[in-house]
Amino acid sequence: MKINAISAMSYGLGAKRAASKQSSAVTSPINREIMEYPKGYIPYQINFAGGGSYSKLPGIKLLKTVKELPCLYCAEKMVQAKTIQSLGASESVVIKTVKEFADSLSKQAGAENSKLIPRFVEAAKKNPLMPVTDFIENLESKKIFVPNSIKNAVKRPMTGIEYAQKAINTVAEYEDGLMPTERQVFKLIKAEFDKNPKQSISSIMSTLRNRNIGDFANSQTKILDEIEELAKSSLSKRAKERVLFETQRSKGLLRGNNSQYPFKRKKFIDNLNRVQIAPSDVDAMQMILAKAETIPTSGKDVNAFIAKYSNRNVPRGNGGFVTRSDSEIIQRILDPSVQSVEHIRPQVTFKTSNGNYVGAKDVIQNLALAHKQCNSDRGHLTLEQYMRMNPKAEESIQKHVDFLIKEIKAGRLRGLEEYPKQLQETFSNETGGRLVLDISEIKEYLDKFLANKKH
Ligand SMILES: [Zn+2]
Repeated sequence: MKINAISAMSYGLGAKRAASKQSSAVTSPINREIMEYPKGYIPYQINFAGGGSYSKLPGIKLLKTVKELPCLYCAEKMVQAKTIQSLGASESVVIKTVKEFADSLSKQAGAENSKLIPRFVEAAKKNPLMPVTDFIENLESKKIFVPNSIKNAVKRPMTGIEYAQKAINTVAEYEDGLMPTERQVFKLIKAEFDKNPKQSISSIMSTLRNRNIGDFANSQTKILDEIEELAKSSLSKRAKERVLFETQRSKGLLRGNNSQYPFKRKKFIDNLNRVQIAPSDVDAMQMILAKAETIPTSGKDVNAFIAKYSNRNVPRGNGGFVTRSDSEIIQRILDPSVQSVEHIRPQVTFKTSNGNYVGAKDVIQNLALAHKQCNSDRGHLTLEQYMRMNPKAEESIQKHVDFLIKEIKAGRLRGLEEYPKQLQETFSNETGGRLVLDISEIKEYLDKFLANKKH
């Protein structure tokens, strides 16, 4: 009987699961899988509300506006979604002076038809430093119609160097809240930019690539060598030949360092999974696949990140080419650190021993903001399981609540006055009373608030 490695994996070898875990770095935390109900897990708030509604809850919207709110699980700064959006592709700058505007108008397609252009040129001669917005206001006050095409032309696209300056300043504010790999990559980008501020992000990435690609290729080649050793010593003839074909081809790609035909970790592992093996090869193939999983990913390795986000031309699909734009690189650095809505009791649906399905309710009591990455790292773990693996989380959760209490007492979270108390209850419920948050700092304030509410 011939089987392939994928069916071998379905014998419960576990490598597949390891693979999906590794690649889950930036995937959505929301997953409606059904899992077995963990032993000793007490059903609580068992109503299951529909998907997606929680992000529209007024309380969540309000929490997302809190500046510098630390992550629920690691207490580091989170990036607000609007910050990432503000670093998007359609970056533009306002042209400030009439002179600048008159100069740029001459380069804009379509603008030459406007009768207003001579006025701008004239104004630029008289008073080149006049703010262009003042001049437009001036025209409109004289009841002169200024078409939108002109008003829009007040903006021009940012240059790569301007974008780099803005992006680096923005990301620097969140440096402590970046995930380890992204933080290291950012430090390298920033150091290059400090050396020479006349560079775009993508040209900095190319510099870093040229510096690091050799080391990165060597570290990957070393793993491929180890896979070859495993294949030679333990696989049957046909399977061995196929595996060696894949490793040799990959080594060739690594030696070539060709951005159009780069070595692709995922493709290599997919190809290994397709190798036809005999039943006697199952154990050896499992070891080979586990070894292949150790090839660094861009989420866990600085050089892998640089390699992935520095290629100017990356083949995608059949012959299509994409470029890594400056904003794509910057947004990718920030993405794992963006705030996301965490379900304290997992949103996953559990199957109980009597066959019922229970899941967490999308209510504010069960929700809090955490980094996308921290949220994803916890995955479907119950709070107890997660805290056993991350003993530091307890301190972070307390810090998160302390921060919220300060905000509430400063009057910035109207409507969420009872939230710390609700969180205290939820965390206590989810840990069988073992984690009781200290909310004494808000006790007096809350008592007054509740007394007023009654009247
Ligand atoms: Zn975090």
